[in-house]
Amino acid sequence: MPDLSLPSEAKQSRGNDGEDETQKLPVSVLPIYIYGQAVLRKKARPVRKAAAGIAAFAGDMVETMRKANGIGLAANQVGDLRRIIVVDAGAIAESEEIPPIAMVNPEVITRDGSWPMEEGCLSIPGIREEVVRAEKIRVRFLDTSLQAQEIDAEGMLGRVILHEIDHLDGVLFLDHIGTVKRKLLRGRLNKLERGEVDVDYPIVGYSPPATGTDPR
Ligand SMILES: [Zn+2]
Repeated sequence: MPDLSLPSEAKQSRGNDGEDETQKLPVSVLPIYIYGQAVLRKKARPVRKAAAGIAAFAGDMVETMRKANGIGLAANQVGDLRRIIVVDAGAIAESEEIPPIAMVNPEVITRDGSWPMEEGCLSIPGIREEVVRAEKIRVRFLDTSLQAQEIDAEGMLGRVILHEIDHLDGVLFLDHIGTVKRKLLRGRLNKLERGEVDVDYPIVGYSPPATGTDPR
């Protein structure tokens, strides 16, 4: 099993000055883009070269995901179009020892089986629907040091990875449900699009265009 953990600066670390104190380098909670925002329908672009800041950005994504009580997050959801996702593998496995996984340019190379399960999405708060996805997948990706990795993921871990990779392609879980069900959700989706969102994490949603501020 490769070391998939985030670099130490994104994790909690104990100071080496002998003091019994834990410290954390600063990470930011980013606002999450809500249904109706164009970036959620865009295809993210592969990360092609070592770019400074990928590990720090992944650390911010993890912080954002946890603040919102999510178990996965894609860069599109924080308004960034690089192919990067984070998954809270520890929360999924109910083990505090398993660190979150950050995947750069993730690609599903094999899929097996299929199973239905209800899903939600931090960008589509308040709506949950059953989605059929593969039971077991093999995924190839780069870690935040851009080293190639491959893992097998099944059950919930695989499901979350598939959900997040969908985001990178501008696909939402709603796209996997039947047209009748989608019709029934129309009213609630319209509300989200209009900015009627009730969540306790920072968001970017619809805001009415400013009037009378442009002098030209
Ligand atoms: Zn989502």
